[in-house]
Amino acid sequence: ARFARLRIAGFKSFADATTIDILPGLTGIVGPNGCGKSNVVDALRWAMGEASAKSLRGGEMDDVIFAGTMARPARSLAEVAVILTETAGLAPAPFQAEPELEISRKIERGSGSLYRVNGRETRARDVATLFADLASGARSSALISQGKISALVNARPEERRAVLEEAAGITGLHSRRHEAELKLRAAEQNLTRAADLRGQQE
Ligand code: ATP
Repeated sequence: ARFARLRIAGFKSFADATTIDILPGLTGIVGPNGCGKSNVVDALRWAMGEASAKSLRGGEMDDVIFAGTMARPARSLAEVAVILTETAGLAPAPFQAEPELEISRKIERGSGSLYRVNGRETRARDVATLFADLASGARSSALISQGKISALVNARPEERRAVLEEAAGITGLHSRRHEAELKLRAAEQNLTRAADLRGQQE
């Protein structure tokens, strides 16, 4: 898969809807200090499921919403969409035939986030699995932030294994296994309950 576009509206310094095309090859973002370069990367990480406001340089999640300037009022919602192409074989079942995959996240002041995949409401957990399958995501080692290299050098073996697993493309299996275990446990509880009920009837 390939990141094709990023659509940002009401997120941090992007008060107006802005579309950024991500062309094949190397993309650089240049501009004076404080113009919003890091906010572009924050937007990408946020849409991919970043759950920590602190790591987005804010106090709470609502802080990603455009807070207003001297000249413009604050906005009440922020939305970021990541558009992927060349997703053949990687898209979740209902979207396999579609040429593009659009993962969006919207937040409204005071009411939390909502994720959509090609317009369809999706759980945060499924968005995380989708990006894990693509060896990407908010916390993925595809995003190398300041201090990441030294952190990796000093990492414990288990932490380094996580990076290798991601490179091997098997990270998504962990969340699938977790989901499957939860389902199994729920089914076991249902079975026990059914057995109890049957016992009472006999
Ligand atoms: P530097 O070169 O210093 O790293 P940068 O170009 O990466 O800067 P960013 O850190 O991305 O800049 O953007 C900082 C700007 O974004 C600041 O002007 C800040 O006021 C603005 N900003 C951040 N959050 C919001 C928000 N919620 N609403 C409005 N503006 C915001």
